[in-house]
Amino acid sequence: MINVTKTFLPTIEAYQSYLNRAWEKVWLTNRGELTLELENKIKETYKINNIIITNNGTIPLQIALKLLGNQGEIITTPFSYVATTSAIIWENCKPVFVDIHPEYLSIDESKIEAAITPKTTAILATHVFGNPCHVDAIEKIAKKHNLSVIYDAAHCFGVTYNNNSIFNYGNISTCSFHATKIFHTGEGGAMFCNDKDLYHKLFYSHNFGHKGPLDFHGLGINAKISELQSAMGLAVFDNLDHIFSERKKVVEFYLNNLNFDALATMKIRENTEWNYSYFPVIFNSEEELLKVQKKLNEAEIFPRRYFYPSLNTIEFVKGETMPISESIASRIVCLPLYVGLENEQLKQITEIINSIC
Ligand SMILES: *Cc1c(COP(=O)(O)O)cnc(C)c1O
Repeated sequence: MINVTKTFLPTIEAYQSYLNRAWEKVWLTNRGELTLELENKIKETYKINNIIITNNGTIPLQIALKLLGNQGEIITTPFSYVATTSAIIWENCKPVFVDIHPEYLSIDESKIEAAITPKTTAILATHVFGNPCHVDAIEKIAKKHNLSVIYDAAHCFGVTYNNNSIFNYGNISTCSFHATKIFHTGEGGAMFCNDKDLYHKLFYSHNFGHKGPLDFHGLGINAKISELQSAMGLAVFDNLDHIFSERKKVVEFYLNNLNFDALATMKIRENTEWNYSYFPVIFNSEEELLKVQKKLNEAEIFPRRYFYPSLNTIEFVKGETMPISESIASRIVCLPLYVGLENEQLKQITEIINSIC
């Protein structure tokens, strides 16, 4: 069976050797040495200003919205994983959708200003499939209207824009280290920010608000990661060069072998060093997509309909119609992409798709 992704596992010996350090110290959580080492490695490798590793990629969105959303209207994208929108509603804010760019697939920055009202407090946009939003334009709009910017960078591990980690953009950026993501800790995530005061708030917010054992800076929640997860992260981190280069080969196979007269894929933004995190194909119609999906499923190949449905159409959301997002969402699938996918399998996938398109 070929799934859309397959979790990268380090050797069990490599994982064990990191775990041994937790055993020796008898220390399993509360920012132990493995967690601190992982934070430092990520920070130094990607030249990131401030990082806090967390228990998943959703709580950081909630913390960011708690600190910057102020229960107001949040301008956001309808084309993302459900967590982007549900975090807004969970924090008693209101999602206000802005349609997406049909090629880059992220929020269309030219439509943002029209959606701003006196109640708008922040913009929460997703760098879809690791492809950066137009961060320069968004920053300008936010400055002009005094809004905060939060980026859901769940797909962005390793991505740089203008030679700068994409995590360094926005007031707060978040990432997911879920097992299906390009870099993972099983479950996990991170939040990033540039401002020292905001970093301090994020820090205490992720640890119950603690100021030492007996005092509190303010309201907080538990978003800490355990040492068991950080050990996995460190063991995966040691293989990142291999992970990126193997995934690049798969992406190049698709680019060279699929019939792009009959299909489209995402356009990567200029000045981006992309991470090969997903390979989306956009069909001409949902009917065609379903035909291809059926054929692939019969061959035990299971792509995923990332992202369907368009988030503005979900029952508990009820946003305005978003024609481009709804159209793309009905026609897009992500093809299998992971370390260890063999050429024979890739051939089979592309031949099935080309036989229909
Ligand atoms: C995976 C994902 C999340 C949630 O991350 P978890 O670590 O699973 O909580 C949020 N946003 C996007 C776009 C995602 O793909």
